[in-house]
Amino acid sequence: MQARPQGKSMPELPEVAHIVSHLAPRIVGRKIGRVVLADPGLARGAESIEAAVGARIVEVRRRAKLIIIDLGRRALVFHLKLTGKLWVKSAREARSPFTRLALDLGRGEELRLEDMRRLGWYRVVGPEDLRAIEDAHGPEPLEPGYTFDAFEGRRRKRRGAVKPVLLDPKFVSGIGNIYADEILFEARIHPLEPIQGISPARARKLHATIVSVLASAVAARRGEPDQERVGSGSRTASKRHALAVFQRTGEPCPRCAAKILRIVVRGRGTHLCPTCQNAPPESR
Ligand SMILES: [Zn+2]
Repeated sequence: MQARPQGKSMPELPEVAHIVSHLAPRIVGRKIGRVVLADPGLARGAESIEAAVGARIVEVRRRAKLIIIDLGRRALVFHLKLTGKLWVKSAREARSPFTRLALDLGRGEELRLEDMRRLGWYRVVGPEDLRAIEDAHGPEPLEPGYTFDAFEGRRRKRRGAVKPVLLDPKFVSGIGNIYADEILFEARIHPLEPIQGISPARARKLHATIVSVLASAVAARRGEPDQERVGSGSRTASKRHALAVFQRTGEPCPRCAAKILRIVVRGRGTHLCPTCQNAPPESR
């Protein structure tokens, strides 16, 4: 079977965590000297990027798929979407034509946002807007508060196929198309299985698998070279280390050797093993 062209994928929790882990030691403690370049097309919110000038970077962290650069009284929030890259470059290094934001960090370095397709965004926010942005997202699956009971409380309120629920950022943060497929394969749940029909024992397995698949993806990215670390989903996803089913249509299932199948669920390409992940009840 002809391999399908690899589609671009949005960075998910492990990719964003990776970018943050790379960025933090390079920029925490440094001061934003001036705005060298700013594409207003990617700016969101009411506050100008100039409001970040003079601020010192206190912390860099991830919330859902967002990168939050804490500036003390304000924060700089990024969403890299499909083709965004956020990295520190020497000011002497020629800027890529896709540079959308460049902030002078002193010592001859700049924090640069590059984004070929201009789908990403940046925003300067105060504490209230930051809280609103953070509250708009569901629980963080790798935090201790994400217990089975917390998961189960949300699951019981949901209806419909399981995969779209996993992709809903209000249900759980940071899962996109890649890890939704990987989690459901690992938990042996068909993407179209109704979420309310999953037995308590399998729900326990699903919860544990959400945590383990994301945690091992985060761990797998540690130690990757810088270029890969800061690349967005399109580049890092092409590595696809240890992905069992995602974009492996026609390849053998790593568990049972049946051919991986591709179906479309609510417009999203979805990969599964037809043997390991039994069809949902209504299609049997
Ligand atoms: Zn299988």
